[in-house]
Amino acid sequence: MRDTTKHQGLRNQLANQLADKGITDNNVLDAIRKIPRHLFIDSSFESHAYQDKAFPIAAEQTISHPFTVAYQTQVLEIQPNDVVLEIGTGSGYQTAVLLEMNALVYSIERQLELFKRTSFFLPKIGYRAKKLIFGDGYKGLPEIAPFDKIIVTAGAPFVPKPLLSQLKIGGKLLIPVGEKTQMMTLFIRKSAKEFEKHELGDFKFVPMLAKKN
Ligand code: SAH
Repeated sequence: MRDTTKHQGLRNQLANQLADKGITDNNVLDAIRKIPRHLFIDSSFESHAYQDKAFPIAAEQTISHPFTVAYQTQVLEIQPNDVVLEIGTGSGYQTAVLLEMNALVYSIERQLELFKRTSFFLPKIGYRAKKLIFGDGYKGLPEIAPFDKIIVTAGAPFVPKPLLSQLKIGGKLLIPVGEKTQMMTLFIRKSAKEFEKHELGDFKFVPMLAKKN
């Protein structure tokens, strides 16, 4: 578990690449510069950790591309103390980005192996979510709702109603919707019943699945 000046240099390059690709939020770029992504993936991929690539993690899942993580975080305009729900903890890298931005993060993962691994790993490198939950993201987290922001990091076949209803007025849900490829879709809650919808472009995620027992 080493983080060296070489890793730091590679992270700076990655942040510059992401800036070239349209990431303008300096807090997001600072988080990318700080977080040791190479520790979130298998050591056999370490030399590629700071390229803008997705990698396999456990349980046939992937750590998202840095651009995707940065883009989703930027679209959500994360503010300090925002109460944020993440669906799909996975490796915990997106969780760490949200924590670097001083959000209060609840994150749900449906794969027990990943939940256990990431629950152990994140605090070990100093990242403390409010709570990591083993469960089904389709239900959201009614006991903590409403949320300022909800981020889904798996491809959802449809928009789960509970996630919309668990947003504060003014809150934002960012969710990739679709089967083979997904349309990144932003919902802004305007009132109890009204939501503004923005379609932001195509992405590719692993599927959001119902809870495994
Ligand atoms: N943010 C993660 C992305 C991991 S990929 C990272 O960058 O590492 C998407 C994750 O969503 C996988 O870990 C997958 O197991 C999880 N997932 C899929 N369906 C889910 C559901 N219904 N509820 C919660 N998590 C889910």
